[in-house]
Parts: sequence; C-alpha cells; structure tokens
Amino acid sequence: MTKRDYYEVLGVNRNASAEELKSAFRSLARKYHPDMNKEPDAEEKFKEINEAYAVLSDAEKRRAYDQFGFAGVNNTGGVPDWSTMDFADIFGEFFGFATGASRQRQNAPRRGQDLAYTVTLSFEEAIFGVEKDVEITRDELCETCRGSGAEPGTHPAKCTQCGGRGEVRQVRQTFLGSMVQVTTCPVCNGRGEIVDTPCHTCRGRGLERKTRVKKVAIPAGVDSGTQIRLAGEGQPGINGGPTGNLYIEVKVKEHKFFRRRGNDILLDLNVNVAQASLGAEIEVPTVDGPAKLKIPAGTQPGKVFTLRGKGSPILRSNQRGDQQVILNVEIPTRLTEEQRAHFEALAKSMGTEVKPQEKGFFESLKEMFGG
Ligand SMILES: [Zn+2]
Ligand SMILES: [Zn+2]
Repeated sequence: MTKRDYYEVLGVNRNASAEELKSAFRSLARKYHPDMNKEPDAEEKFKEINEAYAVLSDAEKRRAYDQFGFAGVNNTGGVPDWSTMDFADIFGEFFGFATGASRQRQNAPRRGQDLAYTVTLSFEEAIFGVEKDVEITRDELCETCRGSGAEPGTHPAKCTQCGGRGEVRQVRQTFLGSMVQVTTCPVCNGRGEIVDTPCHTCRGRGLERKTRVKKVAIPAGVDSGTQIRLAGEGQPGINGGPTGNLYIEVKVKEHKFFRRRGNDILLDLNVNVAQASLGAEIEVPTVDGPAKLKIPAGTQPGKVFTLRGKGSPILRSNQRGDQQVILNVEIPTRLTEEQRAHFEALAKSMGTEVKPQEKGFFESLKEMFGG
C-alpha cells in the first residue's frame, strides 16, 4: 500500500490552520476508532489518521513534511501528542473514559435549576416597594416518601451492580494501551439505589409538581429589569445537591406623567408664555404629592429644575434620587379676541411686525413659482 499524503488523509488543504487540523482529526478519529467502527480496515485507517495528525499538529514536523515529504519526517508514526488534546473530549462521550475531574459522576450531587418569573408593578409600587403574590410552579420533595421514591414502609435497596456508586468501571485493553472505562450503572441508571416498591404519590420520582403563591417583598426603588433573587426557592437539587434559586424580574408600567432615569424621576411640565416671561410659582406633582416650584422670570424652554430628594429611593441605601422638571413653553394655538389684541400690542412694543396671514401656505407657494 502506498502511503497517502497526510493532508489528504485528514481531508484538509495544505494551509489548514491548527484548529482545522484538530477538528478534522477529531471527527475522523471518532469515525474510525476500532472500538466504534467494526469495518476490517478501521484500525489501519485510525493509525493512518493518528500518524498524519502527529506530524501535522507539530509545527516543526509539519514544516519538514511540507518541504521534504515523508523523507522529512521519517519514523515519526506513533500517536499524536495527547497532552495537547483532551482525550476524554474526543472519546469521552462514547466511552466515558475517566480522566480525573473532567467527568462528573452520575450520582454526584447537583444544584437544582433556577426558576425565573416576572412581576408587573405600577410606577408607584416600584418607587415605594410592595409585597406581591407570585404564583410559581416547581418540583418539591414528595411529601409521601420524603423524596426517596419508595413507598413508605419500604426502603430503597443499594444497587448491587455498582455498590451504590451509580457507575461501573471496566479496564479495557486497546491498542493505545489499557484504559479505564466508566459508565453509568445500567441497573440503577446512576442513582445507586433500587426502588422495589415505588411511592404511589410520585410513582417513584421522589418529587411532586406544586404550584404555590409566594409572597415576594419588592424593595423600594426597583426598576424594569431589576432582578430579585430568592435563594433556595428554585428547583430541588439532584442527589442531595442544593436547591436552585428563584429569580423575580420586575417590569414597571408606564406612568401618566413620570418617567424614570436611573434614580431620578423626570417630569415634563408645560407653562405658558406669560408664566415663562413673567415668572411664576406653580404646583407640580411628585411621587410624594404636590410640591411648589418657582419659575423665575425669563425662563427658557428646555430649562431643567431639580427637586432634590424627590426621586426614587436608591436600592440598598437610605438615599433618594431627584425629580427633574423639564420645562416646555406652550405657544397658544387658539387666542380669544382679547388675547390676540394683547399679543398684537406686545408685538408692536417689541418692534416686530405681525401681518395676519391672508393667503394659505400653498397659495403663497404657487405664487412664488409663478403657478
Ligand atoms: Zn413519593
Ligand atoms: Zn447501580
């Protein structure tokens, strides 16, 4: 048999990156591993793949190979440098090779899943805090069997196949050497115990689906997107692991007047031309009730007034943000005869000419373009 080009063996082109080489090798190694592939030439192919990767994954050998072909890399053969590859990563999912801590035992304690729910609050509730009833559905330990899955009065027996460990180990001889193979115990499915008489309530699951109404204290100052974490209120842990958490995400409804910006509350306030020109003292709404605001004479549109401490409480502190009042000067759209007379007099005294618009806008346009 003539030796095939290493790049051809791995099915990559000559300028393939290290990553491309690695991924090509992985998929081919899986495909032709003799334990997986029972074709008569699988082992031969597997060795060929290994040899190709051993050379091409080594920058120096690859350079020599590129330059001189097989002559440049005589008697390399063998297996790739496994120290740079996670063996379990490639074969672990098929064989469950034990490689230290990288693999979790089937019956190891695991934390329960987190649960997430949303509550919708009014603007004021978010500012001042509130207690809300949230309906949550989760698994809880079955009350009948207290989570064992066995009918009361009976006891789960330790699995004799695995001795309660939930996994079985076997030493396999492969042409790469002997390897410890660890698999989930097929008898107990990794639980380590066997329930002969399943609990009638949960059918041996040990858990029951429960819907509960939980009182959740929402602190003052939350805003849309704030998450409240209730530790240990999520799904129960597996194999005695800790319970997951419950997360309540806040959604705040829009307010008629107020907007939030961080801890500040924004209010758009309309005043009329006279108020802005002459100055005024007006009442403005705040979340604490009406407050007085002094507008000095000659206030321009867009001016922002700050009402200190009238904003939202700041979470985890006893301080509050401010209320920002953004002033808008309203131009009247309709005038009474009397008002019109005043504005005309005003215009005159300011030296501005005001001519009533006699023609419509489009007519004036037409005139301008000679239409
Ligand atoms: Zn039960
Ligand atoms: Zn077992």
